[in-house]
Amino acid sequence: MRKLKNYAVILLFLAFTGVSYAQDKPTLSITIDDPHVNDAVVMSWQEKDDSLLSTLDKYGLKAALFVCGMRIDSPDGKLLLEKWNDRGHLICNHTYSHKYYHSKKLSVEDFEYDFLRCDSIIMGYTGYTKLFRYPYLKEGNTIEKRDGFRSFLDSLGYKNGYVTIDASDWYIDGRMIDTLKADRTFDVKPFLQYYLEHIYNRAMYYDSLGYALTGRHIKHTLLLHHNLVNAMFLGELLDMFKAKGWQLTDAVTAFSDEVFLQQPDILPAGESLIWAMAKQSGRFEGTLRYPAEDGEYEIEGLNKKLKSYFQK
Ligand SMILES: [Zn+2]
Repeated sequence: MRKLKNYAVILLFLAFTGVSYAQDKPTLSITIDDPHVNDAVVMSWQEKDDSLLSTLDKYGLKAALFVCGMRIDSPDGKLLLEKWNDRGHLICNHTYSHKYYHSKKLSVEDFEYDFLRCDSIIMGYTGYTKLFRYPYLKEGNTIEKRDGFRSFLDSLGYKNGYVTIDASDWYIDGRMIDTLKADRTFDVKPFLQYYLEHIYNRAMYYDSLGYALTGRHIKHTLLLHHNLVNAMFLGELLDMFKAKGWQLTDAVTAFSDEVFLQQPDILPAGESLIWAMAKQSGRFEGTLRYPAEDGEYEIEGLNKKLKSYFQK
């Protein structure tokens, strides 16, 4: 109940402050993190990869692919990257080993090394684009780490490849894979339904929050992963957004929105750009949870969805 309505709270806030939530269309682009070459019960990695690529082609969309070096540091991984590059998608940096930057054991220098190690793998591609996405969206737990790495990126001409719509597709994916491992014939419809509802709920939440902060619909970058749920359901997801009146655009176009020039002054730094801007504003303390998104928040909702689907 709480989850379904938390963007309604922001819309109510807008109404009370005299801001009308405009009827013009919000815009969505697709960003995909952590491409890898592991099979997933009912699909090989190639089938998943082909499905994602052909769906993006079908909708005429170019995504931004945030590459974690260790997951594609193999001949198969090279093939995967070549395909995405050849299809015109952006090839971007997501570090080599996906470390948690807020760990006390990890220094700015360690993180820079991990960044450069990934960069050496991706820099030869024509689609190489200087956008960096922090693993777990964690941008620094101290001012030294936050600003140290921001300066480092700046010196290389890199920009933060911010997420504006954060979500937990990875959690739904994990649960669906576990279920399919136990029974390959399991009807995945409730997973599809929950996935669509969850992503749309998060999109509306971040769009309404973004509207409260900027007075307009910004161009969004949705965080998805290179996984089974997206391989199976991305087409339905894009259809849903179109049916709800959203416009779809390329990641490069979305990232040109001036909102991406922001560098919110908060600590710990990170989460989605919209969440960080809201935190910085001090206007939404009662509604901002931390972490902003997590599988934990989805356990109850997904369990309910599975239960009600099979009771029908
Ligand atoms: Zn990641």
